[in-house]
Amino acid sequence: MQTPRFIGSEIYRGSSYGARHPLSIPRVPTVTDLCRALGWLPPAQYITSPRAKPEALTAWHSPAYIAALQTAEAEARVTPETRARHHLGTLSNPVFPEMFRRPATAAGGSLLATDLIAAGGTVYNPGGGTHHGMADRAAGFCYLNDPVLALKALLAQGLTRVAYVDIDAHHCDGVAAAFHGEPRILMISTHEARRWPFTGALDDRAGGQAINLPLPRGTDDSGFAMALHEVILPALQALCPQAIVLQCGADAVAEDPLSRLSLSNNAHWAAVATLRPLSPRLLVLGGGGYNPWTVGRLWAGVWATLNDLPIPDRLPERARSILAALSWSRRPAIPPDALLDTLRDTPREGAVGDDLRSAIKTLRARQSAWA
Ligand SMILES: [Zn+2]
Repeated sequence: MQTPRFIGSEIYRGSSYGARHPLSIPRVPTVTDLCRALGWLPPAQYITSPRAKPEALTAWHSPAYIAALQTAEAEARVTPETRARHHLGTLSNPVFPEMFRRPATAAGGSLLATDLIAAGGTVYNPGGGTHHGMADRAAGFCYLNDPVLALKALLAQGLTRVAYVDIDAHHCDGVAAAFHGEPRILMISTHEARRWPFTGALDDRAGGQAINLPLPRGTDDSGFAMALHEVILPALQALCPQAIVLQCGADAVAEDPLSRLSLSNNAHWAAVATLRPLSPRLLVLGGGGYNPWTVGRLWAGVWATLNDLPIPDRLPERARSILAALSWSRRPAIPPDALLDTLRDTPREGAVGDDLRSAIKTLRARQSAWA
């Protein structure tokens, strides 16, 4: 098996959705810098992301929407009609200088990744994972939907058993809309119950075989481990996927401001380690993650897990200084020492509540009925 590849771009450094937006923080630059400081990212494993051409984006997005997005970037403004029709220039999807180039770069990275893993392999594109983008409009900080484009590219390669696993704190409504009733894609999503976008209920099968597991508020590592081993793992083992796309959003950790889940980054790394041997092709994407320290630490640990690299108990000064240099407009402006001195969180374990046990039982019963 070839060495894993890391797809990044300098476009993520210095571009921002605006000072008051949750995506004002650097995320891909932090994970890139941390991995380099730890000696984990030799030049041979790093690939600069290409920018997807507009034609490539129309594999799912409407040409009118792509044109509107390019026009909004060029003119640095949107008309009321564009705002109403395509949801550009809104609070969640504002006009900013790289509003086409940046998401087109994330999409270009995910599309390149599908070429790189065509014959097998592992690629990590932490700038990808924008799972709320819709065919004709922006949503939930996502302008384009790179997971959808990557999955479509994998299907175009002739694959017929592709798994999409999404452990972001929010339901992957854009991906669900794109593949409603598509038998070649098995979509599995864990997400916080009763949180925006309010889709992905337990009984929502996305027109076929999709597995949606809403996690009760406060779900910790123990609850997630139960979901991983009793729902996600057996479903993937039954499928024998030819490719897995993992959306590894970092917003389900306790310190994230946009969810009320209580995972530690150990939960995400366990998911990566568990999924890795289950398919010859693996594409790992980023996603949500709105605390600058936790997202950088979590995604750096994902790369370590993909490469079997030992995670040090304490960060060397070069790596620590990258975290110490970050600032945040929200509280805490200065994080607890553990978020600067370590990469690995203290595990957050506890009793698994009845709500989650019952949801898992329902999904297991459905799986065994199918087997
Ligand atoms: Zn999210």
